[in-house]
Amino acid sequence: MELTPQIFQAIRQINTLISGLVDESTHVGVRQQLLEIISQATGYAYGLIAEVGQAPDTMEITALCLPTWMVSPVERLVGHSLVGFQFAVDLQAALETPPVEFFEHLADFHKPHPKPVGMALESLLKVKHLVSIRQHTSNTYLGAVSFAATHPHPDFAALEYLCNNHLVYALRLMHEQTEKARLRHSLHEEVETQVKARTVSLENALEQAQAAEEKLTESYLGMMKAHETEKIQLKETEGLLEGLRVLTDTFEAQGIYAGIMNLPRGLFDYEEAFILVVREDGKLDVRASTSPIFEKTQWQAQYFFKRILAGEPVAVFETKMVAEWAGQPKAVIARAGSALHIPLLTGHTQAILIYTHTERGKFTQAHQKLAERFTGLAIHALKNVELFEKLQHERDSLEQIVTERTEELQTANHDLQQEVAEHEKTEAALKLEKQHYQSLFEQTNDAVFFIGLDGRHLAANSRAAEMLDYKMEELLALTVREIVVPDELPFFAEKLGAMLNGQMLSLYERTFRKKDGTEFPVEVNASLVFDAEGNPLYAQSVVRDISTRKQAEQAIASLAKFPEESPFPFFRISLTGRILYANKSSVSLLETWQTENGTYFPTSLLDRFLTHNANQPTEPLTLEVKFDAQTYAFTFVPIPEMGYINVYAQNITEAKRADRMKAEFIANVSHELRTPLASILGYTELLYEMTVGELTPTQKEFLDIIYDSGQHLLMLVNDLIDVTKMETGHLDLQVKQLYPSHVMKKVYARLIPIANNKKIRFEMDLDPDLPPLLADEGRLEQVISNLLSNAIKFTPSEGAVKLRAHMVNQTHLHICVSDSGIGIHAEDLPRLFNRFYRGQNITSTAISGTGLGLYITKAIIEAHGGKITVKSSIGQGSTFEVCLPLKRSQ
Ligand code: ADP
Repeated sequence: MELTPQIFQAIRQINTLISGLVDESTHVGVRQQLLEIISQATGYAYGLIAEVGQAPDTMEITALCLPTWMVSPVERLVGHSLVGFQFAVDLQAALETPPVEFFEHLADFHKPHPKPVGMALESLLKVKHLVSIRQHTSNTYLGAVSFAATHPHPDFAALEYLCNNHLVYALRLMHEQTEKARLRHSLHEEVETQVKARTVSLENALEQAQAAEEKLTESYLGMMKAHETEKIQLKETEGLLEGLRVLTDTFEAQGIYAGIMNLPRGLFDYEEAFILVVREDGKLDVRASTSPIFEKTQWQAQYFFKRILAGEPVAVFETKMVAEWAGQPKAVIARAGSALHIPLLTGHTQAILIYTHTERGKFTQAHQKLAERFTGLAIHALKNVELFEKLQHERDSLEQIVTERTEELQTANHDLQQEVAEHEKTEAALKLEKQHYQSLFEQTNDAVFFIGLDGRHLAANSRAAEMLDYKMEELLALTVREIVVPDELPFFAEKLGAMLNGQMLSLYERTFRKKDGTEFPVEVNASLVFDAEGNPLYAQSVVRDISTRKQAEQAIASLAKFPEESPFPFFRISLTGRILYANKSSVSLLETWQTENGTYFPTSLLDRFLTHNANQPTEPLTLEVKFDAQTYAFTFVPIPEMGYINVYAQNITEAKRADRMKAEFIANVSHELRTPLASILGYTELLYEMTVGELTPTQKEFLDIIYDSGQHLLMLVNDLIDVTKMETGHLDLQVKQLYPSHVMKKVYARLIPIANNKKIRFEMDLDPDLPPLLADEGRLEQVISNLLSNAIKFTPSEGAVKLRAHMVNQTHLHICVSDSGIGIHAEDLPRLFNRFYRGQNITSTAISGTGLGLYITKAIIEAHGGKITVKSSIGQGSTFEVCLPLKRSQ
């Protein structure tokens, strides 16, 4: 018989119960407990104890493990059964009959027993076999115990062993104690004493027997165990060595799990294994499995698994008895009838290693121990893995730290380099700045001095030496006292004192002395330089030679006196006529005007100027005015940007008178000249007509010159007479209504031969509807003749000259003389109408003329209330435009 841990435990439990039996009062429930211990330990589902009753020839069921509905039929069975009943009557027969009846086939059982009971056992309780063991001492029949199993292979040997060696002791002891109690009641004291003595001896005997039995059991067990252990240890050692090798070879948790699951194959009999690992959320994950069936399972740690996770390994006889397993699908339970649960706890990982077998009760405590030893190694290996992983992690983080640190150092290094570069840059900039200051110091137009507090020159720039005509070393050997004129030394000391008292000095002017003693004015800008503590170190002064400026200032001052010193009256007036300034010479005029407040310019005069300028005073203008029989010329010069007008006045009374006298003289002379000139020209013409004889070619040539010169002289005299008339105001116009086209056609016709001579294309284009005009016919003829003669004169041959006339606005006649001639220089245009003025174009061509033609023309046109303008460009030709009003304004 194999003494399994369950049997061993049952023995111990039974012994404990026996040791608790003192008297009848301690019997309660003991029989039932005994029955249950034995049923469980041996794998019999049902059982009962039947004992000889108090009444003669009766049997009583004293303990029962059977569904209650079966109690009554079984009682009946017990009543009739040979299970013990007949032996109660006949002890001898009992002693001689083998104690055990074993109904391997229930059919056998049916024969001597009532059929319904047998059928009920078989069909309802699925009893596969039934056993009855009689219990008796050497002289007393105690009763019988019966067990029924629902599976074919219960541990019968263990059952027999437990019943015959242990249960019977218990029953006998209880029987004796009951007997004793019964006797105690019925016998006298004496008898009682005897009974007591007997009981004691019985007890002693029992104790001895018990001790002997225990010894026997122990030695038996020891023997069995030694043998088993030896066998197992050998296997274990081999397996464990192998396991150790595999487990220490790997540093992966999964490898170790695989190792743990597969290696005990040689050590004990299991079919599948898997590992459940506790996740962080408390759920269980199947981490490794030898069979796919467990891989899909879901687990939850309830009471049982919690016990295991608390560190208690458990071999489960029948898995479905455990809640965690009972919840699994049928297929899973079918594959795992029994299971061995081993905790795998590393302090970091919580896991359960489970070995399974389809059969129930496949795992014993010995398996459990073995697996524990084995997994102890696995746990070490797992811890190593964790340690390895931790080290790996630490190494990684260390590497990370090193990388980060390196990066930090690189950044710091980079920053440092940048700082150095920055520093170098700053130094270079400072150097440059220093150079700039140095060159500024040297190149500045001003003299710069650094002067010690004792007045000695500490440093100076070359301009300083140059300004004072000293060599640099000479200058530095001097003190400031030697370059300032002696009169100003006290002033110098005073300034220094003020600076030392913290005063800021503004620019001031001094007089310096050069090496040769020449004195010159300077402008000084001085300041003190202090150290970090605020103590004065030296004075720096920038000195500028202001001789030139002084001279300029004097010049400006004297110029400012210029209008005041002028002998001519000078005014500056606002556009409204207010006198802003009047010089000394204007006093007599101001007195003459006697304006209300004396500060306003005569309105009539200013109005004339403004009207002439169409109220836009930009052009200068000279106007003649009489005040108190004195004639004045007022020249108005507007200064628009300043908003005032400068008026220069000149008393021209005398000049006017002289002019008039001169004009009268010229007029007289001209008239006197004209008479002999007429004779000269008349006689010359006679000579031409050859009434006085034939002329030689040379005489004719000379005569030509006399005639041309005479003509020129006549023209000049005529012009002079005209000019004089104009200037003395004697140009009287004989105005009448006339047709301008007649006048123009007449002049045009007269000039055609001259134009033809020069091969000039000479054209006339007159508006056919030109209205009559009020004018002096002779003077108008003179104007058109002057303009056309000039045009032909200043146009080379093959050129063109054109006379045009048309009306403008029905009020003005517009006459236009244009040519394609040599043109007029722009700078000549403004002065073209002046007396005796001849343009630059004349010099190169030696074209004869007086320079009076245009002057007279303009005067005639203006006397008619008209205007003449000219446009010209060199090489392109000129256009003179005359604009005459049809009616003269008064
Ligand atoms: P002149 O007797 O010199 O012609 P004018 O008073 O008639 O005097 O003319 C003055 C000047 O104007 C001339 O000398 C000439 O320089 C210039 N001038 C006048 N008309 C023309 C023109 N049509 N083309 C070129 N220059 C001219």
